[in-house]
Amino acid sequence: MSEMRKVYLSTVPSCDLCGKQEQEAFDSPVKGHGSWGYMCKACFAKHGRPDVASHILPSSMKPPPSPRKQPSLEQIEDWLQDGTCEATDGCEVEPDGTCEHGKKSWALVMGLI
Ligand SMILES: [Zn+2]
Ligand SMILES: [Zn+2]
Repeated sequence: MSEMRKVYLSTVPSCDLCGKQEQEAFDSPVKGHGSWGYMCKACFAKHGRPDVASHILPSSMKPPPSPRKQPSLEQIEDWLQDGTCEATDGCEVEPDGTCEHGKKSWALVMGLI
């Protein structure tokens, strides 16, 4: 069986079929029906289409992008001019922000703001 496509959302939608809100959900057509909906695990097992569905997970479970080496000061200034910055694990964050993995922006780490 091939891996289902994974989608990370800050809020995992509740099940369109039974209304249950779970840690994870599936975006899938309803078997024999054709229209798409969000499904909990139990409904997906009964009515889902694993061949075309997406697996929806909370964004806190998203694996971090590959960490980069410490950026140059010029690189950070470039980001700051755009009102953004990279966290130490490679996520894009606010200049004074912390990403969903708890990593601080380079501007914070390097004491620039
Ligand atoms: Zn359900
Ligand atoms: Zn991160």
